[in-house]
Amino acid sequence: MPQDFDADVAVIGYGPTGVVGALTLAQQGARVIAFERDKEIYSRARAVTVNDWTLRIFQSLGIGERIEKVIDPQRALR
Ligand SMILES: Cc1cc2nc3c(=O)[nH]c(=O)nc-3n(C[C@H](O)[C@H](O)[C@H](O)COP(=O)(O)OP(=O)(O)OC[C@H]3O[C@@H](n4cnc5c(N)ncnc54)[C@H](O)[C@@H]3O)c2cc1C
Repeated sequence: MPQDFDADVAVIGYGPTGVVGALTLAQQGARVIAFERDKEIYSRARAVTVNDWTLRIFQSLGIGERIEKVIDPQRALR
């Protein structure tokens, strides 16, 4: 990361809220920098289900196809 990066918004924490917030702000033209303390992606499931509304938000942010590649749409939740 460049030492003198100039941003309008700093997002602290790059979980789902941080990702959606950062991408939404960037789509509106803001220069965003995000800081995440964990170096690795969380290794266990914390989204067994992703509902339609959430997927639509991901699609509107342009990351829907990438997410659909790594989820299992066949799995039914009982
Ligand atoms: C076992 C489990 C199962 C779940 N299953 C589902 C599910 O099926 N469907 C669903 O929709 N939701 C599910 N959830 C809930 C979902 O995981 C949370 O709603 C979601 O992760 C919240 O996102 P967030 O970005 O607000 O917080 P988090 O995911 O907690 O992300 C916050 C991030 O901020 C980082 N951070 C915190 N403090 C700092 C700091 N000072 N500096 C830098 N980084 C920092 C953390 O490392 C973390 O990466 C589940 C949760 C758990 C625990």
